[in-house]
Amino acid sequence: MAHKQSDDFTHSEPSSTVTPETKDEREPAGRPNTPRASRSLLRDLNVSLLIELVRRAGAISRAELARQSQLSAPTVSAIVDHLLKRGIVVETTTAPSSGGRPPVLLSVDPKAGYVVGIKLRGDGLTTVVCDLDAQVVASCEHYVPLVGDPAAAIAAIEQETRRILRTAAVSPSKVLGLGIGLSGVIETSDGVCRFSHLLQWNDVELAGPLRDRLGLPVWVENDVNALAVAEKWAGDAFTASDFVTLTVGRGIGLAIVVNRSLYRGAHGASGEFGHMIVEPGGPKCECGRFGCLEAMVGEGAIRRRISERKGHDVSRDELQLLVDMGDSAALEVIDSAGRKLGLAVANVVTLLNPELLIICGEGTALGPTFLDPIVNAVHDQTFADLGREVEIKVQGWGDEAWAVGAATLVLRESFNLPGADDNSTAIWHRTNSTATTGSSEVAFVSGN
Ligand SMILES: [Zn+2]
Repeated sequence: MAHKQSDDFTHSEPSSTVTPETKDEREPAGRPNTPRASRSLLRDLNVSLLIELVRRAGAISRAELARQSQLSAPTVSAIVDHLLKRGIVVETTTAPSSGGRPPVLLSVDPKAGYVVGIKLRGDGLTTVVCDLDAQVVASCEHYVPLVGDPAAAIAAIEQETRRILRTAAVSPSKVLGLGIGLSGVIETSDGVCRFSHLLQWNDVELAGPLRDRLGLPVWVENDVNALAVAEKWAGDAFTASDFVTLTVGRGIGLAIVVNRSLYRGAHGASGEFGHMIVEPGGPKCECGRFGCLEAMVGEGAIRRRISERKGHDVSRDELQLLVDMGDSAALEVIDSAGRKLGLAVANVVTLLNPELLIICGEGTALGPTFLDPIVNAVHDQTFADLGREVEIKVQGWGDEAWAVGAATLVLRESFNLPGADDNSTAIWHRTNSTATTGSSEVAFVSGN
């Protein structure tokens, strides 16, 4: 895709067409500036930038592309011709004429390529194939015990990837890559799961073996981070710069996006929100410590408390039934958990001042009794009324959405990032104008 172009699109423009503020050969921030690397990078960067602008606009004219990208018309034209030849963009509807010849609009062809996304769980995996708009073309479930058994996971991922591509009748030649999301700390640069409590894995290489077996680029990411990438790619956070994605359910997770980039921390372990200790000496958490937020308000804790009240083990299905029936004991426990979680979320909002908070995960099915106290706490318990400024959106996502999140890892790397080999964690490469240059800039944020 974009980073594999062979043509040279780094046309130097005559100086008369380039204002001091408008340079075709803009330099990416934070990268070594050797002439060869720079030229290759700029070529890819310009292609990526135009694809991204077309994608974001939905439909856009060449002239508007030139205006928004601040590339010259000949450069835009050369890149667009190339993308048309490759079938990545298509000419679509014609804009309303203002008298002259109406311009032809360009769109990304969502069927020009496909990506595979897989969400790993302890009891199996969900696999999806998505088009370039992150729309699901096919999905399937496969149940196999994966706890403590990475070899079973690698075999199942290979099998399911081949199977779903056959089912969806997608030619492997049109597949851009495979994304995998799982709970745990992930070294994204080499696709290794450093550790996962849920799966009981330590230092498991995923990307390397799967790349060899499938012949596809493979990216691996923490599952909550992958959800945030999906939200940024095509979801509620499409235009957001600073947001957090909170997942509620069996686990309590958080992904943090700062200035359009995923914040992964020094060791890729940021966002372990569920393991903040909120009650010293509290219930034992699956991480081995006591009083973690997850051990207090996760699905397991909620079911345990309701089970104590009911005098028998309450299953996940029964929990949902009790909620739907408005059972007072169940609702009391859920309300209390929502309040506790809400305070912690309010503290996150105080700490990070996001513009958007997305709440998702299977726990959202607990409904207003669980969600309202969270929203109220953010509104009422955040410093200096900052909580009233934050937009809160609730997504009732299931397992398939986690897999879509994994699939968007591939889209991000294929479109947003020239030179995907460096496996950066940049999820957005274009920042808008700055006071100093008055022009668009392209910034990279590399992973660790
Ligand atoms: Zn814990």
